[in-house]
Amino acid sequence: MRSKIVAGNWKMNKTLEQTETLLLELSAKLPDTNAEVMVAPTYVNLVGAVQSLESSMIEVIAQNMHFAESGAYTGEISADMLLNIGVDTAIIGHSERRAYFGETDEILSKKVVAALNKGIRVMFCFGEELQDRQSGNHFKIVESQLKNALFSLEASAWSKIILAYEPVWAIGTGETASPEQAQEMHAFIRKTIGEAYDSAVSTNVSILYGGSVKPGNAEEIFSKPDVDGGLIGGASLVADDFVAIIKAI
Ligand code: PEP
Repeated sequence: MRSKIVAGNWKMNKTLEQTETLLLELSAKLPDTNAEVMVAPTYVNLVGAVQSLESSMIEVIAQNMHFAESGAYTGEISADMLLNIGVDTAIIGHSERRAYFGETDEILSKKVVAALNKGIRVMFCFGEELQDRQSGNHFKIVESQLKNALFSLEASAWSKIILAYEPVWAIGTGETASPEQAQEMHAFIRKTIGEAYDSAVSTNVSILYGGSVKPGNAEEIFSKPDVDGGLIGGASLVADDFVAIIKAI
């Protein structure tokens, strides 16, 4: 069933102490909401965050995971390691992983399958680069990212998938897709999934928008019918801003 979600991707920010401070502030200021609220601290702070949020409705999620069960993958983290510390959702395919760490559609597809096989919920990120939008290829690119990483899944697997459409040109740039551009792409994504599967799958999947969402633009973006929430980078590092974005949903 489709739900409203606001997730904060903290990336490579915040020490353990800073993580605890931000979580305390967020917990204290968290508004009443029907939306799922998630934060993704860096790996070394996941355990601490899970412990700090034991009695909170804020969920702790991972920024990434490896597709292998275990073994010689220096610097990587497995699904079992996440589950073992109480983390059952992972972001997969963030544009920074694709751009700086060479994560291809093929690798991402393996990660998605590995996560789902372990019962980990996947927040799958995808989106076009600036030149794709300028050349009018954005729909084609988004369709191929979805197809290559997700469309060989069984329909039943989609209950564990959250999508995050993040146009790369809007991430960390202060440049936001207009609410109309976001709605247009989200509607296209839903239509594409409906054609590949059926309307039950496309209607039930939550599609988040990510890319410079701030307190000042969140409400308008979230008001669009096919936008089910947001994946927030920079603004999720400041408690008051993140709380304002949660209120906007
Ligand atoms: C992100 O990295 O997922 C993101 C949306 O970042 P920002 O909000 O800073 O653009």
